[in-house]
Amino acid sequence: MTTLTALTQERRLVTAIPGPKSLEALKRRTESTSAGLGMAIPVVIERASDAILLDIDGNQIIDLGSGIGVVNVGNSAPRVVDRVIDQVQAFTHTCFTVAPYMGYIEVCEKLNALTPGTFKKKSVLLNSGAEAVENAVKIARHYTKRQAIVVFEHSYHGRTNLTMALTAKNMPYKEGFGPFAPEIYRVPMPYAFHWMGNQATITEDAIEMVTSKIEKEIGAHNVAAILIEPIQGEGGFVVPPKGFLPALSKYSTEKGIVFIADEVQTGFARTGNMFAVEHENVVPDMIVTAKGIAGGLPLAAVTGREEIMDSVHVSGLGGTYGGNPIACAAALGVFETMEAEKLVERANHVGQILGDSLRQMQSKYSVIGEVRGRGAMQAIELVKPGTRDPNPEAMSAIVKYCQSKGVLVLTAGTYGNVVRFLPPIVITDELLKDALGVLEEALASL
Ligand SMILES: *Cc1c(COP(=O)(O)O)cnc(C)c1O
Repeated sequence: MTTLTALTQERRLVTAIPGPKSLEALKRRTESTSAGLGMAIPVVIERASDAILLDIDGNQIIDLGSGIGVVNVGNSAPRVVDRVIDQVQAFTHTCFTVAPYMGYIEVCEKLNALTPGTFKKKSVLLNSGAEAVENAVKIARHYTKRQAIVVFEHSYHGRTNLTMALTAKNMPYKEGFGPFAPEIYRVPMPYAFHWMGNQATITEDAIEMVTSKIEKEIGAHNVAAILIEPIQGEGGFVVPPKGFLPALSKYSTEKGIVFIADEVQTGFARTGNMFAVEHENVVPDMIVTAKGIAGGLPLAAVTGREEIMDSVHVSGLGGTYGGNPIACAAALGVFETMEAEKLVERANHVGQILGDSLRQMQSKYSVIGEVRGRGAMQAIELVKPGTRDPNPEAMSAIVKYCQSKGVLVLTAGTYGNVVRFLPPIVITDELLKDALGVLEEALASL
């Protein structure tokens, strides 16, 4: 076994993007992989450490996407790598529901302790965010003996059949993939930047719209769960106005509805708290996690109140791979890294640099309609100057420019006009500032 030394944390271009080797490899990609798969940057990766991706042409690219908010602790974080190597040598699989092992139990103990709420909690582990959302819905329906699920405009919950139904946006997630699962009800989301009503009363007005819709169109007594992302991810980093999440949570409790926070993208220090609901002291009945949980190994979880999680009959939950021992070892390495490197604090520091820099760019470039987000999860919404009309062309131009200079940024948004920033939380100040300098050049080049 060879041990690789970590890559230097600096941007370095030795060819155009994509370089000749990537171009050749991408021809094989086109020949061999489904045309239904997208690609954010046209390079092929050979290695990565922390916030640097090395492509097969030798270019070092700054990663401001973390593989969609996954490698919060950095790519190939040492504590994750060590634990994974030890585990893969010890055993690779038994199936937890066939013969249990400690890694699964330890991850659940940790999740039960880390998630908000002083009541007794239990967890179940799955493979992906979508699978975890499906399980949260299954459990909430089983527990309440009700069927309706309330979700929001601009929401994203995954790509399986049930989670497509829970997701708002048609293109590209749902188009042609129906029929969709029934008993899903979509209610308005207070998206302040596009809110037609009074900004001063947005929280109260949105709560009134949501609860009135629930009561008149569904019947609160038929609602098993209200499912919401505390900051919407794919929808464009939409942050609900202050007071909205607490009011929803309170309403759910009053009506016997399970309040589920989908923290798949916001969880694990990303927003400057371990979980995004903590910014408003909201305590969900159930929390769904995935992405940042295991440093890139496939793992997801549902954590919730003991009485809800235990309401399911034996063998009502499970799956062959859920909570695979290697993924669990990686998660334990992630938890260890978050504590040792104080990543919650670090996310606030990253957020300060990001936010200050983006707001300063907003004051100079009128194409930035809004800067929003929390901690190391921030975005800019691009508009036609002087309006709130979406400017998807500016988004494409910015992404292209950044790529050509070796900076990977991701997009988002119902209107296809949001550039989002999800750097590894361990990114150095120097690297982040270098990337933001490139972003500013991109804005200046428009
Ligand atoms: C990515 C995401 C999911 C789906 O997770 P997968 O692991 O891709 O299935 C669900 N909810 C949110 C908020 C997400 O960001």
